[in-house]
Amino acid sequence: MAGILFIISAPSGSGKTTLVAQLRSLVEGLEFSVSYTTRRTRGSEENGREYNFVDRETFKRMVENGEFLEWAEVFGSDYYGTARAALDHARATGKDLLLDIDVQGAKQVMEKMPDAVSIFVLPPNPEVLQMRLRHRSEAEHMTEEEVIERRLHQARNEVKQMWDYKYALVNDVLDQAVAEMRAIVLYERGVRDGVTAMAESCRTDPRSPRLRAVLKSFGLD
Ligand code: ADP
Ligand code: 5GP
Repeated sequence: MAGILFIISAPSGSGKTTLVAQLRSLVEGLEFSVSYTTRRTRGSEENGREYNFVDRETFKRMVENGEFLEWAEVFGSDYYGTARAALDHARATGKDLLLDIDVQGAKQVMEKMPDAVSIFVLPPNPEVLQMRLRHRSEAEHMTEEEVIERRLHQARNEVKQMWDYKYALVNDVLDQAVAEMRAIVLYERGVRDGVTAMAESCRTDPRSPRLRAVLKSFGLD
């Protein structure tokens, strides 16, 4: 893959979608992988924008045809998967690719693509998470207590997986979390391009042979 693959996971309702949308408006060259899912549309979601919404038969056929880089049954109810085609497209255009996937899918991608950069987004605490889940479902006029409870229960298990990720950030104040995610992307780009290493090599390290040579020429060693 020419670009960087960023894996972003978080308990549902932590604000991952909100963060990713803001990040993409601030940082160029970030493509978003639109996943396939069997769940029904929520609020103002549109087919092909947030997700490709498909029925179970179609999803199963795609699994059998090996069309997914990873897939998982999330919350024990619906299937979600990342199409290999999304990766191919990012490769072809030389862009970095963002995957918004759950912890099971992230594990699969980390194994297949060890160079991927993984980021875990945490809510500040369970109470705030519950509030965000409830506000979102009220705004979308589809409050289902059972769905909220299931997602909250799952959050605790997901948070435990945080240590498998390279980075973790807390989405408390949105602007701060967006700034942190942007910093991670820019830092990782710098690592890939060698810019970070080049800057490091210019540090005022007294052991630097290059600096010592100049000092010597001034008779200062
Ligand atoms: P996710 O994609 O992780 O399931 P969303 O991005 O849909 O979560 O966010 C869940 C709800 O929380 C939304 O109503 C969103 O507007 C709100 N939200 C997201 N981030 C913050 C934040 N930092 N502070 C307050 N509300 C937030
Ligand atoms: P939601 O239904 O709230 O949009 O998403 C539920 C969960 O499914 C989130 O944790 C989200 O990251 C995850 N998810 C979304 N797309 C994919 C995918 O392609 N693969 C996997 N494994 N999980 C996904």
